Amino acid sequence: MTDSNDNVPERDLQTRIVQPEDRITPGFESFSVPVARASTVVFPDLATMRSLVWSDDSRWRYGLHGTPTTIALAQRLAAIEGGEHALLQPSGLAAISNVYFGIVKAGDHVLVPDNAYSPNREHADWLAADFGLEVTYYDPMIGAGIADSIRPNTKLIWLEAPGSVTMEIQDVPAIVAVARAKGIVTAIDNTYSAGLAFKPFEHGVDISVQALTKYQSGGSDILMGATITRDIELHRKLKRARMRLGIGVSADDASLVLRSLPSMKLRYEAHDRAASALAQWLKTRPEVAAVLHPALEDCPGHAIYERDFEGGAGGLFSIVFDGRYSAAQVDAFVEALELFSIGWSWGGAHSLAMPYNVRSMRTASQWPHEGVLVRFYIGLEAETDLRADLEAALVKALG
Ligand SMILES: *Cc1c(COP(=O)(O)O)cnc(C)c1O
Repeated sequence: MTDSNDNVPERDLQTRIVQPEDRITPGFESFSVPVARASTVVFPDLATMRSLVWSDDSRWRYGLHGTPTTIALAQRLAAIEGGEHALLQPSGLAAISNVYFGIVKAGDHVLVPDNAYSPNREHADWLAADFGLEVTYYDPMIGAGIADSIRPNTKLIWLEAPGSVTMEIQDVPAIVAVARAKGIVTAIDNTYSAGLAFKPFEHGVDISVQALTKYQSGGSDILMGATITRDIELHRKLKRARMRLGIGVSADDASLVLRSLPSMKLRYEAHDRAASALAQWLKTRPEVAAVLHPALEDCPGHAIYERDFEGGAGGLFSIVFDGRYSAAQVDAFVEALELFSIGWSWGGAHSLAMPYNVRSMRTASQWPHEGVLVRFYIGLEAETDLRADLEAALVKALG
């Protein structure tokens, strides 16, 4: 239908605007994945259209279900993490939601770690209150003790290692062993490691969730999520739920993440170098009671980190101030920082700082620290400047 035919009289300008006779020189090649925007995917004939099944990943069907741009990103993400199949969602939280709607139903029981990403808790509480899910929060350090929390209707166990505010490293293999023995699906929010520093599938986890909003985007300007699996049946369940929820991502956003992906590992390592150095320096400061960085001993699960992680910890860590400092003093410290901005999310070039009242965020485990927690995200500024900024703010607010 796009062939030009010299015998056909010239069509109206309006038709030619809608269906131009493009004469694009063939043979062009570049490193970028083309931006393939689509709602409508065009079929050559009705028989082809009728033969398509939504679950068939090898054929194009509708823009919401994927275009060459989004599928290229999904495949690269699966490869980074050692998975086989990946789906994209419009945010990390939408990926989390996709797991709930794909894996559990009313009457099922779900276990969520007490240190889970807060909107995951919010989502679980909502499903428990309004949609008949049973939800139990568990101590993230419970390890094989998770067995005591399992019920006959437990269908999903969430993991998050480390928790992105309090940084406990869970014993993933111990929890997965219990889950596997009972046929329970495990899903990890693996955003912290970007799929680089922790390889969930090597430890038997079924589903990995990534907030691509963070390191994969790297620009603090894109929202996107992914679910990655090795198991085609789980992938199909997630894909069916994603189709029913009507969630997908734009090719333009996907192309921006594709653009950042080649530098992600090098960025992660640079964030890690500076964050480790600053964490160690903060450990020497008298104002600081504990430094919760996975590579330091203060961090619960440090030995598990040494055992299960490789390739660093990225840019995220927290400190707990000495209990003698009030919440208002710690607020003053955060506001005295000049190079650290106040804002949610992380994974971009800019450093961030945020105070948290952890006790108000937990229901299943005791938080041992008195003092206020501040979470830092170490960006790509020079480490010497960040250290000077931290020191000046400590002196100004607490000195
Ligand atoms: C940011 C984040 C998410 C959610 O990502 P959004 O794209 O902001 O919805 C999920 N889990 C963790 C650990 C995160 O840091």
